[in-house]
Amino acid sequence: MAPERHFETEAIRLQAERSAHREHSVPIFATSSFVFDDAEQARALFAGEAEGHVYSRYANPNTDEFVRKLCALEGVEDGVATASGMAAMFLSLAAFLNQGDHVVASRSLFGSTHQILTRLLPRWGISCTLVDLSAPRAAWERAMRGNTRMLFVETPSNPGLELADLDWLGSLAVAYSAILNVDNCFATPYLQNPAEFGADLVTHSATKLIDGQGRVLGGAVLGAADLIEEVRFMARHTGPAMSPFHGWILSKSLETLAVRVDRHCANALAVAEFLEGQPGVTRVRYPFLPSHPQHELARRQMRQGGSMVTFELAGGYAAAFAFLDALTMISRSSNLGDTRSIATHPASTTHSKLTEEERAAVGITPGLVRLSIGLEHIDDLRADLDRGLAAARAA
Ligand SMILES: *Cc1c(COP(=O)(O)O)cnc(C)c1O
Repeated sequence: MAPERHFETEAIRLQAERSAHREHSVPIFATSSFVFDDAEQARALFAGEAEGHVYSRYANPNTDEFVRKLCALEGVEDGVATASGMAAMFLSLAAFLNQGDHVVASRSLFGSTHQILTRLLPRWGISCTLVDLSAPRAAWERAMRGNTRMLFVETPSNPGLELADLDWLGSLAVAYSAILNVDNCFATPYLQNPAEFGADLVTHSATKLIDGQGRVLGGAVLGAADLIEEVRFMARHTGPAMSPFHGWILSKSLETLAVRVDRHCANALAVAEFLEGQPGVTRVRYPFLPSHPQHELARRQMRQGGSMVTFELAGGYAAAFAFLDALTMISRSSNLGDTRSIATHPASTTHSKLTEEERAAVGITPGLVRLSIGLEHIDDLRADLDRGLAAARAA
């Protein structure tokens, strides 16, 4: 289902129906429920025989607009908006997994997704095998079992920026009749469309680059209509609904996604190139740097390299702390995908709940720093990074 219009146009022109007030910008439908013209309409809506809104836990014009846009941008049929990215991740798992089922997932996962797979789902008899994201196909095949119902990956991964080859993961999912679920938060639909490669479900945290300004939480589960029907059933009755206000904000955010992500990527590539030559920096990771071990795959599967850059400081933990503390502009925060650039020390914050071995297995060393590159002027970014690097070398 390729969009009929270009990405930028769909992101702007796909709008909720105009009301009797003839507004140009879509208003916020701050209403929990909707009224029926007559008893027959109410009956038909409840029976699913008519289209329309009933109650904002099910759907709302603002959250609908947001989801319809995301579907067009990802090239999928249908979707459900959720209150946060984690609500989307959890729904996308819980809607399909039954007692006794097995999941194969990439080892490098967003922290809370890792907790769901390894600590919560086992309580309901659902097991999971973790595989290195960049491992060869044979390693993924070895992890597959007769009861494997889902493959779950994030690509590029957080914070290692490793890639999964979506093309062969898609064919693996088909061969084992498993659902391929791709968390596309880091790439955004502007840079990568997993459904093109055979992903059955595309999941998002809209909190990151989709909002892009660090304001609200949101998420979405997207995919083929029959799969989304299952997700919608679970969402309706368990209540992780996105608020109309957040739907309104996030739909507006999609209008500027393409121009913002273009600048994020240009800045991030310039930062990665700058860091690569610096003394005291032992390794820089960015998908569109020729030194990235999966550079060729990145070029095949992504349109640009994204907004995240990670690098390793020779001085380990002390150097990483000195680097962070010397920054005067780049924010010390654990969020990402904001207009403001952000520096994070994953080992002591976002990934501190992992055991030392779990961290080592996904390359989170004491000297690793993660940068979410924002929209500031590149010269100001370089100047602040210089301050951090000088402090790291002196530590
Ligand atoms: C942030 C994030 C999530 C969780 O999203 P929230 O909106 O914070 O709940 C899931 N996956 C990835 C890759 C993320 O970066």
